Amino acid sequence: MKELYLTMLRKKKLKLTPRRKAIIDFFLSKERFLTPETVRNGLKKKFKHVGLPSIYRNLESFVKCGILTKIQRPDRKLYYGLCKAKNSQHHHHIICIKCGKVGEFSNRNLFKQKTINGFKILSHSLQLEGLCPNCQ
Ligand SMILES: [Zn+2]
Ligand SMILES: [Zn+2]
Repeated sequence: MKELYLTMLRKKKLKLTPRRKAIIDFFLSKERFLTPETVRNGLKKKFKHVGLPSIYRNLESFVKCGILTKIQRPDRKLYYGLCKAKNSQHHHHIICIKCGKVGEFSNRNLFKQKTINGFKILSHSLQLEGLCPNCQ
C-alpha cells in the first residue's frame, strides 16, 4: 500500500485496520472505479464475514479522507474510485467509460466567472467522461 494513503488516514485520525488496508489494496489492484458490492466480493476471499454496511462505512470515511472519490454514472449506481491527487488541492476527475480508469485534472481558468445569469457562484462539482489513452 502506498505511503500517501497512510498519511491521509493518519490526518483524519483513522486507524489502518486490516480491512481498510485490504479495501485500498483492492482499489489499487483493479485500477478502476468500483461498486461497494464488487469491493465486498473482492474482500470475501480474505475476510469471511464482510457486511455491506461496514463496506459502505469504510468507503465513506475514505471519501472524507480524500482517498476515494464518488463517481456519478448514468445508471445511478454508487461507484467509488481511487483519488490519486498528491494533496488536497481542488481538482476534478475524468473517468474512462470503457475501462473505468479514474484520472485527475485541475484547471484554474475553468471557473473564473463569479456569476452566471445573475446567479452568484458558490461552488461547483464537475466530472468528465471520456476515453483514457489505452482505450482510444
Ligand atoms: Zn482526485
Ligand atoms: Zn480506458
